[in-house]
Amino acid sequence: MRDLNAPPGKSDAVSYTCTCNEPGYVLLFYRYWANSPILPEQWLPETVDPERLAAFHREQGDLCNLSGKVRISKEGFNITVAGSEKNIEQYVTACCSHWSFSGLGLDDDTSASSELQDEVQRNRDEFFKPTPGCRCVFEGILNIRVTAEITPLGVTNYSPSTWEAVRALEPADFHQKCVDEDVKLVDVRNYYESRIGYFVSPTSGEAVKPPIRRFSQWPQWVKEHGDELMENKAGPEGPQKSKPQVLTYCTGGIRCEKGVRWMEEYMSKDELRNQGQIYTLKGGIAAYLTWMEAEIAAGKKTAEDSLFKGRNYVFDARGSTGLAGAEPVSTCHSCGIPSGRLSKCVSPGCHLVLVVCPTCEMGDVRCCHDCLKLCHEEQGDVSGHRRPRPLCECEQARERELWAGERVKEPKTQGWRTKKRMKEGGQGKKLDIRIKVAE
Ligand SMILES: [Zn+2]
Ligand SMILES: [Zn+2]
Ligand SMILES: [Zn+2]
Ligand SMILES: [Zn+2]
Repeated sequence: MRDLNAPPGKSDAVSYTCTCNEPGYVLLFYRYWANSPILPEQWLPETVDPERLAAFHREQGDLCNLSGKVRISKEGFNITVAGSEKNIEQYVTACCSHWSFSGLGLDDDTSASSELQDEVQRNRDEFFKPTPGCRCVFEGILNIRVTAEITPLGVTNYSPSTWEAVRALEPADFHQKCVDEDVKLVDVRNYYESRIGYFVSPTSGEAVKPPIRRFSQWPQWVKEHGDELMENKAGPEGPQKSKPQVLTYCTGGIRCEKGVRWMEEYMSKDELRNQGQIYTLKGGIAAYLTWMEAEIAAGKKTAEDSLFKGRNYVFDARGSTGLAGAEPVSTCHSCGIPSGRLSKCVSPGCHLVLVVCPTCEMGDVRCCHDCLKLCHEEQGDVSGHRRPRPLCECEQARERELWAGERVKEPKTQGWRTKKRMKEGGQGKKLDIRIKVAE
């Protein structure tokens, strides 16, 4: 289903209707050549020309009838593609015998023992992170681009001085650390993603969720709020002796790779700071949910044991993925009932993704009242000039919070009023759930 409100390339759909009738998988994978397991030295000359690697994926994507997004740069690749079960299998086989996948333990050796072959299969699942879906989730389109960065951090020419300063934890270790130790969780994703799902630590509670709209705002948030992460709680015996432990995570792991290493380097510049230990979650929420599903299937855990609550936002028309039967942590933007269902502000040109329950979907849901006012002004403008749309009040409020760290007065809209009413009613449920897709 095409989103008619959105100019092409500006906004991703958050719902779809399958027309291919070929159920299969969506893959989500990436690689930085310099991060371990590093690309074997003999292949390094190949990385100089990303166009050639892009051509490989274009050819395979066409052969396998895939849809999705492929980003290639001199530093590595970042890929999410979808297709039928058979086509995805064919594509994975082609990838695993290509130079760009060497050193990852994914090569198939049919003469190897069945134990070894099982291990290769496990490595492949861990690397490609398949989840159910079909080519319709990217509207049947395969978009391949050579870019400067495989995910834009917004710091020109940044590359970690060392990849070793930050350790990636396997999902099981990440889970155990949250249960056993006093950790601080930080969500590296955009605010519209963390609104519908996030980690909750049994010791320190909900993850910190920065009000950033795109990943390139992450460094700014670190500059403004990084200190708060490294603060030690002062007990009766004075400040804790142990250094703070910060656990970071994102959807599939890629944003943490550079984003968290940049944070670590920025924070350690200040020698007086009580520099704690910073970790990332290997494979991100996607890997954690796959691990948790296996634990539940094996009878070792129940859905309530999952420290990730709600839904995992994804950048395709599925909108989100998650454990079966997981309770929503978000509420409908309009009526306030618990819901994890995604929709959009109906104002043309707004693109803000909102949580909207099926009943309210029938109505005229806007992110804020100001957004509706802007629409009327645009329609009333008979000059014929197309001016860039100014930010509506709810977006301005979020930006102010991000840049100045200040809490601003909430604008009056239907949704905001409901929030106030609910607060007064003592339910304390959050309604501040306007969210926006990446541009
Ligand atoms: Zn389909
Ligand atoms: Zn509703
Ligand atoms: Zn809006
Ligand atoms: Zn708004």
